[in-house]
Amino acid sequence: MQTADFLIVGGGIAGVSAAARLAPHGRTVLLEAESNFGYHSSGRSATYYHFGIGKSVVRGMTAFSRAHFETPGADGTALSRRSAALFIAPPDMVAGLDALETEMRPYSDELERLDADAVRDIVPVLRCGADGIIAAVLDRAARRLDSEALQQDYRAAIKRAGGQSIAGARIVAVSRDGANWVATTAAGDRFSAPILINAAGAWCDEIARLAGVAPLGLQPLRRTIIVFDAPPDQETGDWPFTKTAIDDFYMLPESGRLLACPVDEVPSDPTDAQPEEYDIALAAAKTEHYTSLTVRRISHSWAGLRTFTPDRIPVAGFAPDAEGFFWLAGQGGYGLQTAPAMAAATETLVTGNSWPAGLADWGVAQADLAVERLRIGGMPA
Ligand SMILES: Cc1cc2nc3c(=O)[nH]c(=O)nc-3n(C[C@H](O)[C@H](O)[C@H](O)COP(=O)(O)OP(=O)(O)OC[C@H]3O[C@@H](n4cnc5c(N)ncnc54)[C@H](O)[C@@H]3O)c2cc1C
Repeated sequence: MQTADFLIVGGGIAGVSAAARLAPHGRTVLLEAESNFGYHSSGRSATYYHFGIGKSVVRGMTAFSRAHFETPGADGTALSRRSAALFIAPPDMVAGLDALETEMRPYSDELERLDADAVRDIVPVLRCGADGIIAAVLDRAARRLDSEALQQDYRAAIKRAGGQSIAGARIVAVSRDGANWVATTAAGDRFSAPILINAAGAWCDEIARLAGVAPLGLQPLRRTIIVFDAPPDQETGDWPFTKTAIDDFYMLPESGRLLACPVDEVPSDPTDAQPEEYDIALAAAKTEHYTSLTVRRISHSWAGLRTFTPDRIPVAGFAPDAEGFFWLAGQGGYGLQTAPAMAAATETLVTGNSWPAGLADWGVAQADLAVERLRIGGMPA
């Protein structure tokens, strides 16, 4: 049996970022089921940092996280780059655009309202005017994240602090041994620590059940992305992340190609999500609805799970019903852009320090992320 101070189950962005913050405080062991870290949701995202998503707690955590993304990693690698986000509205979404602009304004001082002509200047293929897009908000404070660089930088930090990241370690049993949690892998290896951080993404409720802890009622939702050739006569590299003001469609450039998403949310069990024909076709159809592009050949597509709590706000906090069991779950569609904030909250709560002033300044309180808000009489709400 290997002993530690902190066991972290799950080697996605949530697990590695929390482990990097905890490793300087004690022996830290990160356990990932797959042979590659970031194989599930964290390796399948659109890798954007923007304020057009989530409730105010999510926007506050996103704003807090900006400094981390703007600072190069320990080896000098950039973790992100500036890349604008454009929120577009046809006539029936203008009220939604107004509301979104109001919600985003406290978090970005680089918002600009655009008319159809200005939108056409930025992304010439968007269908603008008349029944098309008539208004937009451009946010120049958005960023493109490098999820691979983030993963590597966090894992290097774990190693520097003497922690361990172990791949191919699927936890199949969690039990109590006195004051410790004992996690057993499929291969029969056992790890023990007084604090277990449940960062297993779509599988967080499953890990809780293994441990005899009440689940939160997490819901994984599948989302699909298609990749297709950019028009040969257009320079697309500078195009912003372009998203409808009300969730319906987004598109972004990627190495001479375009990525498009039908903003699908299909309930799923925790699984190795695969794209379905219907959602692939929907992504192509919506691309052709919002733009003048014809999607001739889809070079590839993928799907991933976005896992939500019932109120769509992530959870970082100790389980009220199980000593030393820490939930780091429900990162939904914003787990990359909020990871530094969630990790800072985790470090504070696990080590008993006072709540980070930076999070409080952005209006994020401990109670906002606590498990208790989801419980009625000790059961998931
Ligand atoms: C299509 C798509 C687009 C997205 N776009 C964005 C975006 O632009 N910006 C953004 O911020 N977020 C985005 N997201 C959301 C983001 O990807 C997730 O919120 C984030 O990756 C969740 O991280 P995680 O570490 O909680 O989960 P995961 O990355 O899924 O990690 C959980 C890990 O736990 C492991 N695990 C599970 N069970 C066990 C076990 N029994 N033992 C050991 N390990 C186990 C899994 O193998 C997995 O690696 C997007 C998601 C999708 C699918």
